[in-house]
Order: sequence, then structure tokens, then C-alpha cells
Amino acid sequence: MMNFHIHTTWSDGIYTPEIIVREAIKRKMEKIAITDHYQTRKVSSVPKKYLKMYVEDIQTLRKKYRDIEIYIGIEVDFSPRTDIDKLPSFEEFDFILFEYVQDSLWEGYPLWMLLDIRKKIESPVILAHNDLLRNFRNSDIHALLRVLEADKIGIELNTNLNYTKLGDFYYRLAAPIFERVRDFQIPISVGSDLHEELDLLDEVDDALSFIQELHLEKNLKLFLKEIGKRYEG
Ligand SMILES: [Zn+2]
Repeated sequence: MMNFHIHTTWSDGIYTPEIIVREAIKRKMEKIAITDHYQTRKVSSVPKKYLKMYVEDIQTLRKKYRDIEIYIGIEVDFSPRTDIDKLPSFEEFDFILFEYVQDSLWEGYPLWMLLDIRKKIESPVILAHNDLLRNFRNSDIHALLRVLEADKIGIELNTNLNYTKLGDFYYRLAAPIFERVRDFQIPISVGSDLHEELDLLDEVDDALSFIQELHLEKNLKLFLKEIGKRYEG
């Protein structure tokens, strides 16, 4: 089992990274990522000046606990609540989540703005819990997928109930889009956006079934390969 979207006491989660890691080992998980919020005015988050400490904290756990792969991620609120022109290059990170991309309900900036910023970031970039069907309803989907592939931007399947409509996960509502994703080299990640409920730690089964149903295994593998490259290197 794996989960690449987890918050801790570094931002608005209630468990320390170490508690999360120990619990994940107890549940025999193989891979997890800590992805706290980067400095935003929306929620408690990691200030830019503490980023290094945050990375070192997770690196220490990585050395201490060898039974599980621990990845270093962070989540950027892609909206006026973040100082987007002062974003760091995130060199030490295995991947970066961007939330609210093109999401007008949350004042999210458009995707084209992310393309500019993406050039300055070396790590894999992922659209977190995006309501693709709604946010890109006026877009040419083929063009969108080509851009994501060309600019190496992946998509997360998020199993948190916050990202559902009438009981359907955003990614399931966007199934017509995901049916076409398998023809592109677009990384796909899975996560549950855990903050307070430890039971969400290994609660990504629906996302993994969706990947099987839509034959997106190659896209998940691509994500694992991209973050793995950085993990080992
Ligand atoms: Zn999150």
C-alpha cells in the first residue's frame, strides 16, 4: 500500500511525521510521502525559512526507518494566498503538489501560470485533488493532456471525501478524461490527504482500483519511477 499525500504537525496535521511513519510501518505500507503545506495564508504551513528543517526532519526518518520508503513532498496553494513569485526551486524534494490549479471556487491561478513556474522546478509536479471535469470544462482535453505530458505535470487521484461530489470522487467524475490519459506519458499519483484520521493512511484502495479499471498502471509506474530516481540519487 502507498500514500503520497499526508499532512503532519509541520502544517495542519495533528500527528508528527514520526508517528505517521511508525503507523505506516505497523500497517505494512511500502511507500508514503509527507506533503505538508508550503507557506500560505490559508492554513498553518511550513514557512519558506523552515523548509530546510522540514526536509532534514524527513531525511532523518528516512535513515532511521528502513522498512518503508519515505518521500519528501510539499503542497503549494496555487492562489493569491501564496507568494508565487517568491517560490523556492524545491531542489531537495521528491515531488511538489499544486492544489487549486485552474479552480475558480478557490481563486486558483490558471494552468498556464503553472507552466511558467514549472520550468524552474526540477522535481516532478503533480496537480493535487483537481476537479478536472469542472476546472477544464472549457478546455480541449487532448490539448490539455498534451501540455501536461510535454511539461511533465502529473495528476493525483485523491481519496479524501472532501474531493467528492454526491459521493463520487473527482477522478471518477473525470473518467472520460482519464480514459485518454493512458495514451500519454502523464504520471499518476495516489493519496488521501490525511490530516487527523489515521485510518486514512492506507485508504487509497478506490484510487488503485480506478487505475486498474482504466488501465493506468503505466502512469502510476511512471510516477513511482520519477520519484524513485530522486529518492536513490
Ligand atoms: Zn493536502
